[in-house]
Amino acid sequence: MDLHHRPTVVVVGGGLTGLVAARRLDRAGCEVTLAEGSDRLGGQVRTIPVAGHVVDVGAEALHLGSPAARGLVDELGLAEQVVGARPGTTLVWSAGRPRPLPAGMGPAGPSRLRPLLTSRVLSLRGLGRAGLEPLAARVTARLDDDDDTSIGAFLTSRFGREVTDHLVDPLLGSLHAGDVDRLSLRACAPALVGPAARGRSIVLRRRGARATANPAAPVFASFAGGLQVLTDRVLADTAVDVRVGAPALALERLGGRYAVHVGDGAQLVADAVLLALPAHQAASILSGAAAPVARRLYEVETATVATVVLAVDRRGTSGLRAFRGNGLLVASRSGLLLKAMTHLSHKWPHLDDGRTTLLRLSAGRSGDPTVDQIGDDELVGRLLAELHQLTGLTCEPEAVHVERWPGGMPQQTVGHRARIRALRDDLHRLAPGVTVAGASYDGLGLAACTSSAEEGAAAVLTHLTRPVETGSLA
Ligand SMILES: Cc1cc2nc3c(=O)[nH]c(=O)nc-3n(C[C@H](O)[C@H](O)[C@H](O)COP(=O)(O)OP(=O)(O)OC[C@H]3O[C@@H](n4cnc5c(N)ncnc54)[C@H](O)[C@@H]3O)c2cc1C
Repeated sequence: MDLHHRPTVVVVGGGLTGLVAARRLDRAGCEVTLAEGSDRLGGQVRTIPVAGHVVDVGAEALHLGSPAARGLVDELGLAEQVVGARPGTTLVWSAGRPRPLPAGMGPAGPSRLRPLLTSRVLSLRGLGRAGLEPLAARVTARLDDDDDTSIGAFLTSRFGREVTDHLVDPLLGSLHAGDVDRLSLRACAPALVGPAARGRSIVLRRRGARATANPAAPVFASFAGGLQVLTDRVLADTAVDVRVGAPALALERLGGRYAVHVGDGAQLVADAVLLALPAHQAASILSGAAAPVARRLYEVETATVATVVLAVDRRGTSGLRAFRGNGLLVASRSGLLLKAMTHLSHKWPHLDDGRTTLLRLSAGRSGDPTVDQIGDDELVGRLLAELHQLTGLTCEPEAVHVERWPGGMPQQTVGHRARIRALRDDLHRLAPGVTVAGASYDGLGLAACTSSAEEGAAAVLTHLTRPVETGSLA
């Protein structure tokens, strides 16, 4: 890149995606302005004090099994500060009873048969069907290159319906606040695409994978100061011009450059723009410069979720025996508002002071408007009543915090990847140099957002270094 003229880039959105992309572009020699609409950076990474502890009320755990997340932590010099989640049982509430989540059960389904067979989560019939997975792998139709299916449909074809309803739905459905029969296999469980395309058994394949994994390395991690340590460090490691309280309203094309109009009437003019925003927010900014793309961005479905953090004095509780483990997941068919409970003070060593129990309750699923319709008091009251119903826990919280995430969970439904690819092609044609990145496009979670940010930054750099005859800056 020709540094006599430093290319200018506006990154819109100061969540992890925007911060990582801005840092990468800054390091590549661009002059970067980051415009964040709210008064704080971090987006869905938000760490706040609750009863003297630092608690995450958005994203709660970083998946270090992802090379992108691991790479970011290492690059930022944070590896020594990583706090691993303690191992512990997670209970699954399904068909009216709690059962421990079988070992080897991940969001993308079971990876081991034996723990599943001895878990007592499934009926005898369900167990028999699940045990047929290696055989089902050989006889079920293979996934074509251009095709997609739902995670629910695929895992049902392999393990039977009970595994989907009693295990995959509470785990992956809760994580995405979505319907496993609509969530895309390609987008939400990419590790299963290989077995689906090649007709390979999941349980036999994972046996080999387990042998190569490092069992000592923490897979789910945080920091003693919460996950905001990560976003704060990304910010501290850049020389980006950061503007908070600067919501982008519209994007205007100025020949080969762009003007981003921000809330206070200012214009940020740049050679390229990276929108690190959820799909609907990106759509509203693009509605002038790339209207057909904006229309399709509005079609990305979302779910509203809420997080309730409770701090409870251990002496003033009963029924806590049930909470020796890390938490509880609730199947969507149970008809409850409670989707998951995380026993924070058991899961995270830095949140365990021996005196206070910290619980994090989650609510909100795609297609269910309840969370949007009820106030904080009713939300907390209902979640506590359901927790009591499920576990027998009674408590008088000494502190309660409610955090709402309206439309906060993008739903990557079947065909999502192909739709996003087409949408990006159109955006490139209508507004070359404008890129979208983040969870709405490339997957929920901090690890996926880190990769998305890196790829978004790479796309911007490719645009900025294109050949001179097409109007390049290089
Ligand atoms: C309750 C909850 C729990 C989660 N738990 C986990 C977890 O444990 N582990 C995990 O890996 N992931 C988790 N996730 C998902 C993860 O947090 C997100 O996928 C990720 O943080 C999204 O990052 P982002 O930067 O793409 O978007 P965001 O974090 O949403 O950031 C977008 C930013 O853009 C800003 N913005 C919006 N509109 C404008 C505008 N017009 N102009 C300027 N700025 C604007 C917003 O204010 C925000 O700061 C969770 C999410 C939620 C909601």
